Amino acid sequence: MVNLIKSKELSEQIVAQISQEISNYDTPPGLTVIIVGENPASKVYVNKKKKTAEKAGFNSEVIELPESVSQQELEDYIDRLNNDPAVDGILVQLPLPGHINAYDIIEKIRPEKDVDGFHPVNVGRLVIGLEPYAVSCTPFGIIRLLEENKIPIEGKHAVIAGRSNIVGKPLASLLLNRNATVTVCHSKTKNIEEICKQADILVAAVGKAKFIKADRVKPGATVIDVGINRTKDGKLVGDVDFDEVCKKAGYITPVPGGVGPMTIAMLLSNTLKLFKIHNK
Ligand code: NAD
Repeated sequence: MVNLIKSKELSEQIVAQISQEISNYDTPPGLTVIIVGENPASKVYVNKKKKTAEKAGFNSEVIELPESVSQQELEDYIDRLNNDPAVDGILVQLPLPGHINAYDIIEKIRPEKDVDGFHPVNVGRLVIGLEPYAVSCTPFGIIRLLEENKIPIEGKHAVIAGRSNIVGKPLASLLLNRNATVTVCHSKTKNIEEICKQADILVAAVGKAKFIKADRVKPGATVIDVGINRTKDGKLVGDVDFDEVCKKAGYITPVPGGVGPMTIAMLLSNTLKLFKIHNK
């Protein structure tokens, strides 16, 4: 029988621990999120981050900027936040409008305030096996889920479908640093079915509903579903054909209630870590 890897309890426990720790300080850690434009999904994510952060005792601010904001204006905001001692973590919600160079914006954030772990310094430190100031929240949350469920990583074959800078690539480094053998697949990968079938740990981060069907899964494998897709009838589903894959996998994360809640818990954990670094 398949084991469900649910995250509600664990994520709530992590947030409660963080909240408890914050109450020991005179001033709360500060998290500032910049959102540009009117992307409805981004707004939902940002509101959720702000609400959870405030509930946990953080000082959380959202800066809403119009779609027309220029590269220079956005960089000026980041400069101000970089120099503001009350701000420990800066998060620029992606995607940004097409006229903005997102790489330059991320690089403008001081690495020790880069709460998303996207700055080249933090990515570079992760790749070479040094501790970054912060690790990308979703992959970091996936590692916590694997560890909490005592799923062995060392020596296992982990296959990741999706090579984005926010999920696939940092997760590959995290798993490699824990001695997994890692294969990263993407839109140009040939024989993806055969590769997925070899996975002890199979991670789907593609953004396509039912991308992972049961015939791509090795019996007993651990299947981690990162995808968030809306069906025509408005239902939230992952990248994995959950009902079918459940019959074959050993462990599986549901959508919703799997990877998602861990992302915000890790964001708060990163913010607290940066706060502690700034207050050493
Ligand atoms: P992305 O669009 O940046 O990248 C998608 C990746 O999938 C690319 O690397 C692409 O090469 C690969 N891909 C596309 N088609 C493919 C195919 N046919 N075969 C193999 N690979 C293919 O996506 P992302 O930002 O990494 O997000 C992926 C999914 O995860 C999305 O559904 C997103 O909403 C979700 N997501 C969830 C969370 C969370 O907290 N749960 C966080 C981030 C992203």
